[in-house]
Amino acid sequence: MTSLPVHHRPLEDARPTVLIVDDSIDVHRLLKVRLKNEDLDFLSAHTGQEGLALALCRTPSLMILDLDMPGMDGLAVLRKMKEHPDTQHTPVIVLSGQHSPRDKVAAFELGAVDYVTKPFELTELRVRIRSALKMQQLISMLAQRAQIDGLTGLWNRAFFDRRWTEEHARLTRHGHPLTLAIMDLDHFKIVNDTYGHPAGDAVLQAIGKILQRASRQSDLACRYGGEEFVLLMPDTTAADAVVVGERIRNAVASSVWPQHPDLRITISIGVAGCSGAAPLSAEQWIEAADRNLYAAKRAGRNHLVCTDLSVQPPRLVKAAG
Ligand code: GH3
Ligand code: MG
Ligand code: MG
Repeated sequence: MTSLPVHHRPLEDARPTVLIVDDSIDVHRLLKVRLKNEDLDFLSAHTGQEGLALALCRTPSLMILDLDMPGMDGLAVLRKMKEHPDTQHTPVIVLSGQHSPRDKVAAFELGAVDYVTKPFELTELRVRIRSALKMQQLISMLAQRAQIDGLTGLWNRAFFDRRWTEEHARLTRHGHPLTLAIMDLDHFKIVNDTYGHPAGDAVLQAIGKILQRASRQSDLACRYGGEEFVLLMPDTTAADAVVVGERIRNAVASSVWPQHPDLRITISIGVAGCSGAAPLSAEQWIEAADRNLYAAKRAGRNHLVCTDLSVQPPRLVKAAG
């Protein structure tokens, strides 16, 4: 079992939060009393609008939603939930006094995971809540697994691509600093050829741990491909990223490999960062960091080359030694 990135532990660790949206105070009281042994946290909303707002800002694990409410009714809440990316995956159990099959069908068509008719049998509601939460937990785990590199436990390339596009767009809107570092192990083919592929894999896993330790919680350490890694550093200037990159470069170079005492591993790093409006497209920015990586290789490897895109041109930060 590989370790997951430290800043995104699986959701199963957290106590689930259930948001109850019902205009009847009695329903809130009843549910909270009768479900108090379920190891759940509760949030309460008494109108559709309030429920929607809480679903957005508190991202509950599950919503129990009354259909029949004055003002914005349950179906309207459900429709709005499905329109918003932050709430569209929140499971919703619909609770309704109405027996109309049309409502039931409409609720399921709008994405409700279950439907319970009032007056409800609490034992039945309890097992339905448990099964909805279990299903949600499994879906979240699968979604997270699909974004994680199996060997190192770092985020994978697909996750990086998505987050890089998002961070680049955020920079364009807000102008916060943003820096990207691309890293490639030096002469790694020789490591495999000399010590074997399993030893190479162990080195890659150790590099993953170094990256996690050297970076901050808000940074995103990813395995970009074979023996290449990227570190996405939001709210970080190029100059600050050089400090992080140097910490990583030094940690790799000074690592001791107990299984192979004569083994020395080094890493080359290309950094490109910016403190204002994005001067390059997301792809051009990666290319700029990649050019610096190859400049670091040409300079003799175990180097870091950084460009502050707000200033230009690339400058060599650290010579080998
Ligand atoms: P350079 O300093 O120019 O980067 O040299 P290099 O040998 O690292 O570069 P090259 O791209 O020629 O070789 C990369 C090697 O990385 C080839 C491959 O054997 C190794 N590699 C890629 N993915 C893995 C992996 O998952 N496990 C192991 N053990 N090795 C891998
Ligand atoms: Mg390579
Ligand atoms: Mg390499």
